[in-house]
Amino acid sequence: MAQQVTNYVCPNCGGPLRFDGKLGRLKCDYCESTFTVEEVQKIYAAKNEKAEEAGIAAQQEDHHTVTGADFYTEADINVDQAHTDIPGGDSAAAYAQPSHHQAAHHQAAAGTAPEAEPENPAGVWGKDEANIRTYSCTTCGAELICDATTAAVSCPYCGNPTIIPAQFSGVQRPDYVIPFVFEKNEAIEKLKGYYKGKKLLPRSFLSSNHLEEIKGVYVPFRLFNGTVDGEMRFEGLRSQITREGDWQVTRTQHFDVQRAATLQFDKIPVDASSRMSDALMDSIEPFDYNALRPFALEYLPGFLANKYDVEIKDCEERAQQRAVNSAVQAIQNTVTNYDSVRETGRNMRINPERTEYALMPVWLLHTKWHNKDFMFAMNGQTARMIGDLPVSTGKLWGYILGIGAIVAMLLFMMLGMDTQSDALLISIIAGLAVGGVSGGIMYGQMKPVSRNTTATGYMDRTRSDLRLRNDIYLRTTEQRIPIQQMQGGTRPPGGGSRPGRR
Ligand SMILES: [Zn+2]
Ligand SMILES: [Zn+2]
Repeated sequence: MAQQVTNYVCPNCGGPLRFDGKLGRLKCDYCESTFTVEEVQKIYAAKNEKAEEAGIAAQQEDHHTVTGADFYTEADINVDQAHTDIPGGDSAAAYAQPSHHQAAHHQAAAGTAPEAEPENPAGVWGKDEANIRTYSCTTCGAELICDATTAAVSCPYCGNPTIIPAQFSGVQRPDYVIPFVFEKNEAIEKLKGYYKGKKLLPRSFLSSNHLEEIKGVYVPFRLFNGTVDGEMRFEGLRSQITREGDWQVTRTQHFDVQRAATLQFDKIPVDASSRMSDALMDSIEPFDYNALRPFALEYLPGFLANKYDVEIKDCEERAQQRAVNSAVQAIQNTVTNYDSVRETGRNMRINPERTEYALMPVWLLHTKWHNKDFMFAMNGQTARMIGDLPVSTGKLWGYILGIGAIVAMLLFMMLGMDTQSDALLISIIAGLAVGGVSGGIMYGQMKPVSRNTTATGYMDRTRSDLRLRNDIYLRTTEQRIPIQQMQGGTRPPGGGSRPGRR
């Protein structure tokens, strides 16, 4: 069983090509010629097809070894399209034997997710040897050690980008890719900017944290499509208060509020890489889908890429929960013109449509400080940067007590600085409360990474429909309270509420 690896080479000089996000083209490392994805696709079309076929064959037949497919070795550099396949060519570098045998394949085929290692997205495989695959670099022949989901790497010895097309062949072929727009140096700059203005950041973090690793990864995402059919019921109340003689009368109209809606959701993204933190990936949303391109391997050279290893069912569950939450909110928002609303029932159904598969561009930046790991992610398309930061407890308490003291002092002055009464105590308690809440908000700003629970941005309102909007009047109730009681008197007989007439 063999798996081919590909590297894209410059038609002019044979140098390695990399996808350049700024240019949106592939660029030669050596002569700096640039080519569009379509141009390179044209050159490599026949080869990719063969490589993919070989990949499928290798996956289907464990003991059938594909031999002689001499793809993309130096022999090929002059891009003679008539002869892309050299039968009998046995360059050992042309293909790699995943030396760790069929076990790895069976496991991958069964969809078993490898151990998650959230802070090391494209590298470490830990003890799980069955998930190791080795390939040979087509440029220098070095052994490339990858895990079962790796689809694009750079050779650690010669640095040349290497693609493993079989990982994206057949049913595993992504529907879309969003190409990188921002480059590595921009991600580094953005991270510096991200630290700025963070008041609770320990001083020494700025001076002594260091960037351990930065990598551009095409992360596999599932894109959920579907509708949510929702029926919801509420009790709506409208109250009117009038004065009748010595009585204050509150008349409350009760309504049975019924709503039914069908809401369309398009492409709710869920990361499908088990080692990638869901919260981190949710936090760099949204991606601009205008830039979705039909998938092509030619966007990958120069970046890392992984294929999915999370079952479609698990991804869909997360997306569907988000869709339902947003549907509930949308329906609740149609219940207006009431003084108070209470939900009395709901029935939500999900009708999934085809779930798509896309690769999204993500810069991952790993820094270390005081032996602790900090992981940041930047959306490679929009440059949205996010990551949890350490908090200086000293600074946090400084702010809580500082804000508390100011609030307490101002309040104490407003209350007339009466040290005999409770004014001092009240001021101190209020000050601490305000300080505590402010501190909590500031702390939250240092830990912004969280899972998304809604999908409102993915709702297509033009294809959604409020099918039922029914507000049925039920009855009016009346409550009478004597004015005297309201001014602090005792409760007289005959007060209270009684069911009213119309
Ligand atoms: Zn070149
Ligand atoms: Zn190499």
